[in-house]
Amino acid sequence: MVGWSRRNWLTSLALAAAGQGAIVNAWQVRPKKREPGREKAPGKTKLALEDYEPKSMLHVPETRVPRARFPVIDFHTHLSWSARRGRVTEAHNNATPEEVLPVMDRKNVRVMVNLTGGYGKVLEQTINYWQKPHPDRFVVFTEPWFEKITEAGYPQFQADQIERAQELGARGLKVLKTLGLYLRERVTSGPLVKIDDQRFDPMWEAAGAHRMPVGIHTSDPEAFFLPTDRFNERYEELSAHPDWSFHGKDYPSNQELQESRNRVMARHPGTQFVVLHVGDSENLPYVSELLDRHRNMHVEIGARIGELGRQPRASRKFFDRYQDRILFGTDAVPRGNDTPQQIFGEQLYEIYYRFLETEDEYFDYAPAPKPPQGRWRIYGIGLPEKILRKVYYENAERLLGLKT
Ligand SMILES: [Zn+2]
Repeated sequence: MVGWSRRNWLTSLALAAAGQGAIVNAWQVRPKKREPGREKAPGKTKLALEDYEPKSMLHVPETRVPRARFPVIDFHTHLSWSARRGRVTEAHNNATPEEVLPVMDRKNVRVMVNLTGGYGKVLEQTINYWQKPHPDRFVVFTEPWFEKITEAGYPQFQADQIERAQELGARGLKVLKTLGLYLRERVTSGPLVKIDDQRFDPMWEAAGAHRMPVGIHTSDPEAFFLPTDRFNERYEELSAHPDWSFHGKDYPSNQELQESRNRVMARHPGTQFVVLHVGDSENLPYVSELLDRHRNMHVEIGARIGELGRQPRASRKFFDRYQDRILFGTDAVPRGNDTPQQIFGEQLYEIYYRFLETEDEYFDYAPAPKPPQGRWRIYGIGLPEKILRKVYYENAERLLGLKT
């Protein structure tokens, strides 16, 4: 490596005049003395990708949106999980209502939907903890009792559970990506159970009959189905969570999973489906086609403003066209430190509001030092008030039957 000198400087300038490559060379020349505070000089020591935290030099407006312009229903949260302790499954709450309510008040979130309410005893505990004491602030969904799939009579049992869940107070059904990617014939072993497996038909029908919307998470980002290599746009995320990769093994493709869910929506036109995470947020033309084809389909935007916000012009048109069928959601998890794009808190809501309400340019989609779902930043889509009201509140209000 050549030391930095006036001669190098002049040489590099001369080369720069000859072509672009020379400009790069000029930067690879290391200063003789290290500047204080600079641990790694460019060119000499390679900077690890995980240590790279570039700061944007753009001079553009930065709008803080501390409070949503209109009241909000957050359709996608995980205030609790079902946790297994030995043989007993019980509700594990990620926070207390006393912690969550003041944040909701400050951010103008009127209702939070806790999708992962579980089933049976757990569901009852969850409803008693969140919804019963605050019926106007928290809504709880039930989940399928997948462990019982090996039992004879499961289809009817599962349908009956939907009715029982409604009696307990549940207002919808949540289906995790477990269906399609984890659930197997013998629960954890054997072939994967397909999303459109007919054993679930009575369950989808029961949800429709009881006017309980189905929040369904199918598949995952397209990059999760590709090798985790240098071409993968979510390389860092997949490296941090290797178990999120669905590349290889016996996993179906993203397209197969989407199509399987589409067949369910087609087969149960009386049931309202809220396709979580926009379904396939990298492919808005495909999602648009589905929305045109399935009148009982809606989408929710949780944990996908990173995708929507990097294609702001396409997103803006998408929101215009499907303004009656898009629901606000964050996928918020209190203390979900593993996934910065989902940590419940004031910062999270402010980013969503900034994306939806402003035309700010090139900002972080998650409260994290590095963009956790891919190395890019996003642009606001500045929705008009009429669309904001629908997306924030009215569409979810209608589906949840909250209107009195
Ligand atoms: Zn979620």
